[in-house]
Amino acid sequence: MTRLKKAPQRMCVACGTRREQKSLVRIVQDPDSGLTIGGGRSSGRGAYICPNVECWNKALKGNRLEHRLRTTLTAGSRAALLQYMSSLQESDTNGKVFTEQE
Ligand SMILES: [Zn+2]
Repeated sequence: MTRLKKAPQRMCVACGTRREQKSLVRIVQDPDSGLTIGGGRSSGRGAYICPNVECWNKALKGNRLEHRLRTTLTAGSRAALLQYMSSLQESDTNGKVFTEQE
């Protein structure tokens, strides 16, 4: 108990697991710029999802994500999310943690 870190924790919208903010993928719905996936700095209402396909599937199939973001996902947003999800597939099988790339 001597080394208690104060890393910010967020909850995955799909499985409800609490993890460090940086180990979750952030999704932000901004009224102006639309949906941002994995962006760190955008303001707006955000949701967090574990970097694995299972959680993304769960989040996208129901309306959990939309509910959380208080928005209706456009076809474009949904397509972007699906695309992002497909990029997770590889890392998931290797058990790697997703890292943002430029
Ligand atoms: Zn999760």
